[in-house]
Amino acid sequence: MSETLSSVLNVTSEAIEQSIENHKAEISQDEVGKIISSVGQGIVWADGLGRVKYEELVVLGKETIGMAFDLLPKRVGIVLLGPGEILKAGDEIKRTGRVLDVPVCQQLIGRIIDPLGLPLDGRNPLPDEQRRPVQQEAPPIMARAPVEKPLQTGLKVVDALIPVGRGQRELILGDRQTGKTGLAIDTIINQNDKNVLCIYCAIGQRSSSIAKVVDELRRHKALNNCIIVVAEGNDPPGLQFIAPYAATTIGEYFMAQGRDVLVVYDDLTRHARAYRQISLLLRRPPGREAYPGDIFYVHSRLLERSTHLRQEHGGGSLTALPIIETEAQNISAYIPTNLISITDGQIYLSPDLFQKGILPAVDVGKSVSRVGGKAQLPAYRKVAGDLRLSYSQFQELEAFARFGTRLDKKTRKTIEHGRRVREILKQDQFAPLGTAEQIAVLLAVTEGLFDEIPLTRIYHLQQLVIDSVREETGLTERICKSPKNGPVWDELVSKIEKLVDGLQKET
Ligand code: ATP
Ligand code: MG
Repeated sequence: MSETLSSVLNVTSEAIEQSIENHKAEISQDEVGKIISSVGQGIVWADGLGRVKYEELVVLGKETIGMAFDLLPKRVGIVLLGPGEILKAGDEIKRTGRVLDVPVCQQLIGRIIDPLGLPLDGRNPLPDEQRRPVQQEAPPIMARAPVEKPLQTGLKVVDALIPVGRGQRELILGDRQTGKTGLAIDTIINQNDKNVLCIYCAIGQRSSSIAKVVDELRRHKALNNCIIVVAEGNDPPGLQFIAPYAATTIGEYFMAQGRDVLVVYDDLTRHARAYRQISLLLRRPPGREAYPGDIFYVHSRLLERSTHLRQEHGGGSLTALPIIETEAQNISAYIPTNLISITDGQIYLSPDLFQKGILPAVDVGKSVSRVGGKAQLPAYRKVAGDLRLSYSQFQELEAFARFGTRLDKKTRKTIEHGRRVREILKQDQFAPLGTAEQIAVLLAVTEGLFDEIPLTRIYHLQQLVIDSVREETGLTERICKSPKNGPVWDELVSKIEKLVDGLQKET
């Protein structure tokens, strides 16, 4: 009897062991896969990996990292985030059970990293005790507060006419070589003393352009207030695709601590191209201009993450300045129109103005800021209305004047005034101006104090006004607090009048 029992038990335990072995094999087939084929250019098809999850990290071969991106019944499409040249068909792929994340810590400030958080500046690796997933949900509506504080760019034309608020998304778009990066860099430099942390995310650019930006930031002492996230043009498209999300995740970490953060995405055209490349290689159906149908979602889910948080949620803000390159001034192409509709306004840089030497080449007529007006410092209201009106009147009249039409006195005066407004809105690169300096110059031109000065001398006079205002401490506060006709305004006007008189006597 006992023999029978033991034999039965033996059989049973054998059966159980066998079943466990089988199950292990099944699991390992689910956890480990094989490369079927490598399409090249950053994509790999894999067999096995039955339980892999969407956007889960996998390790291919010895150490190449990839992200499961297309989960099909019989195979898995993997986007590479590291070099793919060393991989070949048959190489093993292991699941990691993790999603993509980046290290977040205070030490990030002043560093140059890649979208995986690895240093590119030759300094120590970053501590990675704390990591945050790269893909995050945008803050819910109830956590958001209205945009009410300005983000000063230091550029007269932007701060006066197209003001940007903290938490706003303002698109910078224009053809190639029109000063898009320049405008963003000026804005970053202007935050040096404003307690706004800046993140510059370079996507798909040449390393020489990135080196130039880093150099300019270093030269203007802005690098220590900056985090630079880089995915170069010759990095795998997967890395370029995740770069802006990684930069935003880092921004959100600081925003949650109550800090104001500015993120520049330079540029999202290249980001869209990287995503198109991935999608086409994964055989997803192409849509307009061969972009996949979800390209709008890809960009909107990125930019929805910029906001101004309510005090209970940390009270910080994340301002986004995405950059888009247009082709032959076509702002109604697919990606530009998508981004125009996602963002809260756009700054359009025109190649025509750039060629005429009107720099920054902001086309005021085609630029708009939909929420920034509410956040603009009250002092600008006194000057900005007149400025916009007289400038747009002038632009219309100037077209007529070009035909040599004889003009009456009033029209001539409007044109002369407009020319001075245009001259005043020009600004050198890397020379952002403080609020009081901007207001003084703009006030002078709107009050018509420069109307009698020859155009060639306006620049010099402007410098005099700036210098005289720069010496006065606390002027910005006084200007901002003063009602529209308060004594400080009269003081400013008489001060500038004196400077103008002095200059006229000199000549
Ligand atoms: P790309 O399309 O190559 O990215 P971009 O639109 O970003 O170009 P920038 O690289 O910013 O343009 O600027 C192009 C050139 O114009 C640079 O040499 C820059 O120094 C010059 N530039 C830009 N803004 C100004 C300015 N306000 N004053 C003088 N030069 C400027
Ligand atoms: Mg650029």
